[in-house]
Amino acid sequence: MHTASQENKSTADFVDLRSDTVTRPSAAMRRAMAEAEVGDDVYGEDPTVNRLQERAAEIFEREAALFVPSGSMGNLIAIKTWTQPGMEIICEQRAHVNQYELASMSAIAGCMPRTTPAPDGILTWDLIEPLVRPKTYYYSQSALVTLENTHNMHGGTVYPPAVTEDVCQRAHAAGLKVHLDGARIFNAAVALGKSVAALTRNCDSVMFCLSKGLGAPVGSMLVGSQEFIQKAHIARKLLGGGMRQAGVLAAAGLIALEESPKNLHLDHENATFLANGLANIKGISLDPKKVLTNIVIFDVRGTGRTAAEISTDLGKKKILCGPTDKYSIRMVTHCDVQRAGVERAWAAMNDVLSVRASAPAAAHH
Ligand SMILES: *Cc1c(COP(=O)(O)O)cnc(C)c1O
Repeated sequence: MHTASQENKSTADFVDLRSDTVTRPSAAMRRAMAEAEVGDDVYGEDPTVNRLQERAAEIFEREAALFVPSGSMGNLIAIKTWTQPGMEIICEQRAHVNQYELASMSAIAGCMPRTTPAPDGILTWDLIEPLVRPKTYYYSQSALVTLENTHNMHGGTVYPPAVTEDVCQRAHAAGLKVHLDGARIFNAAVALGKSVAALTRNCDSVMFCLSKGLGAPVGSMLVGSQEFIQKAHIARKLLGGGMRQAGVLAAAGLIALEESPKNLHLDHENATFLANGLANIKGISLDPKKVLTNIVIFDVRGTGRTAAEISTDLGKKKILCGPTDKYSIRMVTHCDVQRAGVERAWAAMNDVLSVRASAPAAAHH
């Protein structure tokens, strides 16, 4: 039986630009899931999970990797592993770990975020250094710097590799660890034409999502040293993230990891196309040159309408997107949206905004 919610948004005539998390497993993934060899992963006996972890470690040129249920859990595991309660975590103000993970670093790991805004979300050492606590006993101690690459809420911006390297070197010299929230690190790698291993070399731990642009239905990975992953393994179990025959999920993850990165450039081209189109619409403010990956965030204040109003109107035309602020909207391209879909989104935006613009003129007739 079909319920309204099953049909809603799952029908092909919706263009769903709310997030790259909405991607559905491909036919190849579903086949691999059905045929996956499995075992009990809490016993370390799921061959497909083990293969996924080995491949992730290889691709990132690290000693080990761990399959985790979600990116949020991956970040929390890394934070718990690198800190003690009472310590501080330096991150950008609009970082996912600060805004969208229910303050789990405080609620569960017992740590405080110490944040700063950064242009384009890119934390440089100049911005980080003043936030590092002196090693005086009555200060809470800085333990960890968390970087986000690409930076979601700043529109998929990409860390220049030299900045990541500089931050890592200086953080290490100051006795801090560096965790990379690399939910979309493959998008950064494609944008720069570099390997994920090269972009993340000096970070102590990396989390990346299989379930976003790479198109897997569920799951994220942590990568790092053998010692880090051993501790992360315990933290995952502590948080209830030990899974049993998880090979059915890892099978899709393996395909995502091996096959999807080579197609991400298409999502980036669609995002650039969309950004260029939107920038030409009156009342929309956006610099298309800043759109380097698959996220387009734009300001609609000049239209005289709110992001929520515009999103609702777009929804009626079967274009789904997300307001990120009173006057800003985010659109994310991904493998389930083709060029034609992006063209429809642009045309719908024109319609939605011109209805209002032409209304006063019509009154003269
Ligand atoms: C999506 C996302 C995460 C975590 O994702 P889950 O939805 O928990 O899998 C972490 N960081 C960033 C930047 C993200 O965009």
